[in-house]
Amino acid sequence: MTTNTTISSNFIENIINEDLKNNKNNKRVHTRFPPEPNGYLHIGHAKSICLNFGIARDYNGLCNLRFDDTNPSKEEVEYVESIQEDVKWLGFDWDDRMFYASDYFEQLYECAVQLIKSEKAYVCDLNPQEMREYRGTLTEPGKNSPYRSRSIAENLELFDGMRTGKFADGSRVLRAKIDMASPNVNLRDPILYRIMRAEHHRTGNTWCIYPMYDFAHPISDALEGITHSICTLEFEDHRPLYDWLISSLEMENRPQQIEFARLNVTNLVMSKRKLRMLVEEGLVDGWDDPRMPTISGLRRRGYTPEAIRDFCERIGVAKSNSTVDIAMLEHCIREDLNSKALRAMAVLRPLKVVITNYPEGQVEELETENNPEQPDMGNRSIPFSREIYIEQDDFMEIPIKKFFRLAPGQEVRLKNAYFIKCEEVIKDPETGEVIELRCTYDPETKSGTGTATRKVKGTLHWVSAAQAVKAEVRLFDYLLKEEDTEQEEKDFKNDINPNSMERLTDCMVEPSLLYATPDQRYQFIRNGYFCLDAKDSTAELPVFNRVVGLRDSWAKAQKA
Ligand code: ATP
Ligand code: MG
Repeated sequence: MTTNTTISSNFIENIINEDLKNNKNNKRVHTRFPPEPNGYLHIGHAKSICLNFGIARDYNGLCNLRFDDTNPSKEEVEYVESIQEDVKWLGFDWDDRMFYASDYFEQLYECAVQLIKSEKAYVCDLNPQEMREYRGTLTEPGKNSPYRSRSIAENLELFDGMRTGKFADGSRVLRAKIDMASPNVNLRDPILYRIMRAEHHRTGNTWCIYPMYDFAHPISDALEGITHSICTLEFEDHRPLYDWLISSLEMENRPQQIEFARLNVTNLVMSKRKLRMLVEEGLVDGWDDPRMPTISGLRRRGYTPEAIRDFCERIGVAKSNSTVDIAMLEHCIREDLNSKALRAMAVLRPLKVVITNYPEGQVEELETENNPEQPDMGNRSIPFSREIYIEQDDFMEIPIKKFFRLAPGQEVRLKNAYFIKCEEVIKDPETGEVIELRCTYDPETKSGTGTATRKVKGTLHWVSAAQAVKAEVRLFDYLLKEEDTEQEEKDFKNDINPNSMERLTDCMVEPSLLYATPDQRYQFIRNGYFCLDAKDSTAELPVFNRVVGLRDSWAKAQKA
């Protein structure tokens, strides 16, 4: 179920345009991004961030950052901080509008009291088992709770008792009084408050009752003057409850909930619960592991905010769920890095080459451009000498057909340097493994001089052995073996790719990479795009992550 088509007309913009035309909300546009601080943000959240902050930008409106911190048992300060960092990194700013749903606990409580007073809420003593039985099913209506007809006075007293800690956790709840026979189960007297003695990261132990998301969310929206409350499709059936609360409480602001399809990407896990499992079971190196689809993982991997924003723009906004091909995300980062990345030579699996007719001890500095697409990115020089490294798989002792790289008697061009010809193969006497090549070079073939009189088909990257810097390079494969990401938890575990990271610890890279920084991206010629790992690199051993390879299957498919 992979869709490749971009949805161009944004139905949310159509709604907003219509609202502006009708003078709704005094022509204000105010959105919010409401993460629950129970994990790190992922690429799906990036879509929501780009959408909400993007609408505010495009309509000269505002967008709030609001932490939906109504469930203290799962929430942590670490997540609050990472979320702020990620939103900022993506290029968005909430100015002075960072809020917490917990800021409204007192107002939310007052709203609940107001509902009790207008006979729209009651305290219910059914236990969870009974609650389920009374709720009915999708095909059968529910039954009224025996506590539904409690008086206002009794409800007020009991609800106050809930707040002041008179009752045990889970012994009572506050419910909305709507309609137990409604075809929409969300309207069958939904729970508004539960008793839960849990320390909250902001309010400490002040509260032992906590509001449900469905109750807190519309009220928080209304209190902040949100006009368009954009959420994902699974909340569609909750919209009648959202509207019921806003109108029952006679809120001054009347935000409108609009649902859009959540982002799914092939081969990527896209649920905080599953991501947390990967982290907690040590299957990855934390939330920012470069294989993780989290914003912090993508950042560490070497993705740019521009590429992620471009991706979110291209996938568009739809009303039905679909899965985006991961090749499209990779296409976006390639496009961005092609123009930004400095070119460099790095040999991932080195094979030593001795150029026998090159003077011993001589080092030549060869000029080369940092990015052939961007002349203003300047030049650098790379050393060339008698001993160099090339990639092991750029040599074949018995070449297959059309192998234009190095083979005995065969000549190739060394990028930015000279032609070399393989004269002799040295092997380990014990294992028979090729450990060194003896080659000759032709001084008349120096790159850029135009003096070469013949052509060769292969061009290899290389590094000069004496000046090369040893580095570790990490190559990644997808975390999931299967394209389908909608797996159940148990299937999801079976699906984890055991070979999602390959560590090459004997790489040789050109000396300029000694000065690499994590915010600079590189194209290692013929090997892909790379970025210094901010966490694991040391002065002794730089570690480079492969952001993405060079082959663009997405662009190819678009042309076909
Ligand atoms: P998850 O299911 O991964 O735990 P969530 O929806 O519970 O995500 P929240 O922190 O509640 O995570 O999400 C904050 C906002 O981001 C919500 O408005 C939610 O709709 C949106 N969002 C979450 N996941 C996606 C996604 N895959 N695509 C688009 N928007 C998303
Ligand atoms: Mg959620």
